[in-house]
Amino acid sequence: MFLIPSDWYQIKKTTNRGRGVFARHDIVAGTVIGDYLGTIMDPKKENEARDGLYTMVGGTTYDILGNPDTEGIHLINHSCANNCDLYPYQGHVLYFASRKIFQGEEITVNYWLYAPGEEATTCNMHVCHCEARNCTGTMHHAIAQFDPLETLWKKNFGVWYQKNIGPYQTKLLPLADYPRSIGKDYPNIYDLYASETKPSLKQSDTQLPPISELRKRIRETGQRLAFPKLGLTVFGIEKGMALVIK
Ligand SMILES: [Zn+2]
Ligand SMILES: [Zn+2]
Repeated sequence: MFLIPSDWYQIKKTTNRGRGVFARHDIVAGTVIGDYLGTIMDPKKENEARDGLYTMVGGTTYDILGNPDTEGIHLINHSCANNCDLYPYQGHVLYFASRKIFQGEEITVNYWLYAPGEEATTCNMHVCHCEARNCTGTMHHAIAQFDPLETLWKKNFGVWYQKNIGPYQTKLLPLADYPRSIGKDYPNIYDLYASETKPSLKQSDTQLPPISELRKRIRETGQRLAFPKLGLTVFGIEKGMALVIK
């Protein structure tokens, strides 16, 4: 279910990734984009959709299977340079804008698929075609990368983390209320990437600002940061470090 007005986004065909969701409006960082609704599934039972792209992990006891026939945030594609992130909230998984999203940009998220093996190796089904500068070629992540995510899930979900939120095979119903925005103090566990289509913004600093400051600037402006005095451009933050083009 989308939580932004219907004229803020458009669902259309992409060239190589099926349908996608595109912004028709600039979207301010932090904006809650939607709630991942669908059918509550038993993660321990095999189902044919389990390995598809419409399954969202809830807590330890349930998955949420999006219905491809409905228009919801499950239509948002994966990207290695995603502009939305996941926010666990009262047993639901919300998507929010991790930086400013520009009109015309595709709205993307990181699917956070578990590694099929010990390392983030690609599989035939989850090859990534996002074409971002930092694309890993796969939607999978190494197991170790999930530690901060798991901590966040446990903390934010609280009781829901271990509890089944409804009988399996029933629909996850919308909540009565949603936050409109995820605060800027949200734990900085996610990687962050500036828009690749917008020009970079000139910064006058003579020293590279701390990561928290770089994060704040990218988050709020959505743009890459050019530091002419340092001869480099920062296009994102990954694993707590600045991603730099020289
Ligand atoms: Zn896979
Ligand atoms: Zn990619």
